[in-house]
Amino acid sequence: MADYKAPLRDMRFVLNEVFEVSKLWAELPALADVVDEETANAILEEAGKVTAGSIAPLNRSGDEEGCSWDNGVVKTPAGFPEAYRTYAEGGWVGVGGAPEFGGMGMPKVIGAQVEEMVNSASLSFGLYPMLTSGACLSILNHASEDLKAQYLPNMYTGVWAGSMCLTEPHAGTDLGIIRTKAEPQADGSYKISGTKIFITGGEHDLTENIIHLVLAKLPDAPAGPKGISLFLVPKVMVNADGSLGEKNALGCGSIEHKMGIKASATCVMNFDGATGYLIGEVNKGLAAMFTMMNYERLGVGIQGLSLGERSYQNAIEYARERIQSRAPTGPVAKDKAADPIIVHPDVRRMLLTMKALNEGGRAFSSYVAMQLDTAKYSEDKATAQRAEELVALLTPVAKAFLTDMALETTVHGQQIFGGHGFIREWGQEQLVRDCRITQIYEGTNGIQSLDLMGRKIVGSGGSYYKHFADEIKAFVASADASLSEFTQPLAAAVESLDGLTAWVLDSAKGNPNEIGAASVEYLQAFGYTAYAYMWALMARAAQGKEGQDEFYASKLGTARFYFARLLPRIHSLSASVKAGSESLYLLDAAQF
Ligand SMILES: Cc1cc2nc3c(=O)[nH]c(=O)nc-3n(C[C@H](O)[C@H](O)[C@H](O)COP(=O)(O)OP(=O)(O)OC[C@H]3O[C@@H](n4cnc5c(N)ncnc54)[C@H](O)[C@@H]3O)c2cc1C
Repeated sequence: MADYKAPLRDMRFVLNEVFEVSKLWAELPALADVVDEETANAILEEAGKVTAGSIAPLNRSGDEEGCSWDNGVVKTPAGFPEAYRTYAEGGWVGVGGAPEFGGMGMPKVIGAQVEEMVNSASLSFGLYPMLTSGACLSILNHASEDLKAQYLPNMYTGVWAGSMCLTEPHAGTDLGIIRTKAEPQADGSYKISGTKIFITGGEHDLTENIIHLVLAKLPDAPAGPKGISLFLVPKVMVNADGSLGEKNALGCGSIEHKMGIKASATCVMNFDGATGYLIGEVNKGLAAMFTMMNYERLGVGIQGLSLGERSYQNAIEYARERIQSRAPTGPVAKDKAADPIIVHPDVRRMLLTMKALNEGGRAFSSYVAMQLDTAKYSEDKATAQRAEELVALLTPVAKAFLTDMALETTVHGQQIFGGHGFIREWGQEQLVRDCRITQIYEGTNGIQSLDLMGRKIVGSGGSYYKHFADEIKAFVASADASLSEFTQPLAAAVESLDGLTAWVLDSAKGNPNEIGAASVEYLQAFGYTAYAYMWALMARAAQGKEGQDEFYASKLGTARFYFARLLPRIHSLSASVKAGSESLYLLDAAQF
């Protein structure tokens, strides 16, 4: 297996040359004095060192050893506690955290690159800080000032971790039917009772305390999603002076044995009248949880990219070294018994598919992160609102499309190794196994598609979509004629997506099944079109520099591959969408 190397050149290309992100930072007063291109480059370089040096070497051993549970005590694999300490001491857990509580205050677009690196190094490892920063975000936006002051500083520094406790045995997608109860107490706290399952980092040995954010219902709560409240429930009680007190009434009943991410503890958590504190308003718990959803869902999309990137780094090295058969056009490595497999068209197809989808995904997730930053920091109301609507539209695409593409890329990365990809030694099969969960948790990709189509497209009457489509059309209209090999197919792709979107809006009026029938293929057509926009932007940034540096020649070649070989997938997706729901309902349940 190749050593992981953080793709810093590519990250800098996206941030500095494609999006010129320092111009955005200069326009946002809250960021203007905090970050510039030089600071960002230094942060990324340092993150590259710590992730490649301290975490990446634990990926395979962590997978082999897994987590263990013994009478409620959960241990992470050897090396994880030490690596976690190094990571936390570097300030990486609080990279995007609020400075007034000890966070680094970096924009999301920087945090997104750090997330990519840590998850490439080890997705299992990356989940612990990710859940912590997600919990911090909900606390920061919705909790009382006292709770913020008491909990955030130790969470940003990684001294304490966080978890998100939503899922119950009978309630996953449909959180409206959860049964965990919250009984109000005279002192203003609550007693939380119930069982949560599949809780990432619910218990572990990395930190001295774990702060659980728990969804529960008050005794008189209305039925369904409108009766859910959010509570902060510490594993160990925190005294008024900040010291740790008694253990709270909760524990880890067991951990799951899983297909992948084996070094991430996935816990059954039992709350037995545990003391909890309300976050936000009673019965508005789901809304408080959703504050962090856009950040987390983008983060899960980035997890997919991370795995695709690691798989590609291994595959390209292998394809250059492994010799098998001769090139169809005649021997290339004449001094060897056979040519390196990179000469074969099919191996090139797989490598280029990986490269085009990874780099398209990196640009797209950075674009969405920039919209998150604009929505959060812009002082111009209209600009902030447009960015917020773009985030709402693009987040389900980023979560589902990046992770669906990651399964394709990690499988290609395994295939390039032939039989060696199937055995454990090379690490390629682990990346496929680890990838699979990214399509499932944080809302399945099917649910992301419903969110895109139902809430974001139909729900906004097409207005959110129009922001994105208009931006692409304006780019096409203003682009130099020398870019037409990219802008012409991009314009055609947007026109096709316009037609598909109008079809969706129209057909949803007549038959409620049409949304769910079309949504997955619609999201994918959207994703390929969004990547086409990214590749056209990247081609613009690379154009004219290809003679100086092969990095830019590689970008332009990959852009051409994307438009020639991947974008045409929208045609079959579009045909499937327009076939409608009828054929899905030809069988009754017994006929399956
Ligand atoms: C390793 C791991 C880690 C996890 N970490 C956490 C965590 O930290 N915290 C937490 O709270 N949860 C966590 N989860 C839970 C995870 O988010 C859920 O498993 C996921 O949201 C799906 O819920 P479910 O498993 O109950 O599936 P279900 O909701 O039962 O869904 C089953 C299938 O039906 C489909 N479906 C359901 N409703 C609809 C609908 N309306 N329309 C169309 N299709 C539908 C789904 O897409 C899916 O394909 C984790 C799960 C795993 C496996």
